[in-house]
Amino acid sequence: SKTDLYCIGCGAKIQTEDKTAIGYIPQSALDKQLTDDTQDVYCQRCFRLRHYNEIMPVSIADDEFVRLLNEIGDRDALILNVIDIFDFNGSIIPGLHRFVGDNPVIVVGNKEDVLPKGVSRGKVRQWLFEQSHDQGLRPVDTVLVSSKSGRNVDQLMALIDKYRHGKDVYVVGTTNVGKSTLINQIIKQNMAIKDLITTSRFPGTTLDQIEIPFGDGKNLIDTPGIIHEHQMAHLLGPNDLNLIAPQKALKPKVYQLNAAQTLFLAGLARFDYLQGERQGFTVYVDDQLYLHRTKLENADAFYEKHLGELLNPPKAEAIADFPKLVRHEFSIDQKVDIVFGGLGWITVQKPGVIAAYAPENVDVVIRKALI
Ligand code: GDP
Repeated sequence: SKTDLYCIGCGAKIQTEDKTAIGYIPQSALDKQLTDDTQDVYCQRCFRLRHYNEIMPVSIADDEFVRLLNEIGDRDALILNVIDIFDFNGSIIPGLHRFVGDNPVIVVGNKEDVLPKGVSRGKVRQWLFEQSHDQGLRPVDTVLVSSKSGRNVDQLMALIDKYRHGKDVYVVGTTNVGKSTLINQIIKQNMAIKDLITTSRFPGTTLDQIEIPFGDGKNLIDTPGIIHEHQMAHLLGPNDLNLIAPQKALKPKVYQLNAAQTLFLAGLARFDYLQGERQGFTVYVDDQLYLHRTKLENADAFYEKHLGELLNPPKAEAIADFPKLVRHEFSIDQKVDIVFGGLGWITVQKPGVIAAYAPENVDVVIRKALI
């Protein structure tokens, strides 16, 4: 058929199929750019960068990412690790602590706007510290920001000033944590930044690096996101994504359950109260997500019968590809949150035994209650 086209910005092979992969451009935009006079094409990412100074999310394969991290580890720099506070496990870059070496790291907890009003921000930062330490990371500081609203981005900039010591700053993160939104917010809030510069590639990768100049010869450098399979976001279509990626502060809903009752979080997760006195469980998930209470003894059959219909998302057409729910049992003796990766959490007040289910690969973890 036609000869292959390459982006004249970044050199990636032009393609119109996979939005999340490099070289993507929608077919209609491609048709517009291509004229009889010229075969010069910018991929969507380079186009937006050139014309709107806007960074688009992009991901690369694991082996390329490892090379990129090695590269960063060899440089003298400050590292910003952007984390989705609603999906800590899905935000982990495996082995990051080994790659950063002696370079200082700031852990940036993003999506602060989704935290319920009553949650102590101090506690969340403390929790971020502990989680980071569990991963072998020793951040010099943590900060909670909302890339969307811009909240605390000034604090982040102040921290960068404090810890950068005249060095470059690399921003790393898995996909969907909001890294691109954050960088765009930084650009927006720092009007001095006129032009984003793409420079030579990270060696061994197919991507150019994007640099935002600090004005002293050093730069804030965006890196491609690494895909993390353990994310609910990869299991759902774009129309369902807003249900698991809430856009407003979560509002708690209390469900009184007796032992041997089950609560479904649409078709995405399940919570069984196995043993203990009747108590109220506080659910923190998107307001729109359908919750359904039923008897434990009927729960399996109920799920089978109603998945994709009453229990949706996932939508009916998606259930064939939707992974089975995996069961995690917890014995509870203090006030805890049962956290469903990327979805939200349920606070358990009193002692008891519970089982929490999430799709295969999506983590369920227990933590001391945030509230
Ligand atoms: P990237 O893959 O890490 O570059 O992530 P994006 O910047 O593309 O963001 C992923 C998703 O998270 C998008 O749907 C964003 O709208 C959403 N998002 C990013 N930052 C925030 C935030 O601060 N708050 C909320 N509520 N959503 C955010």
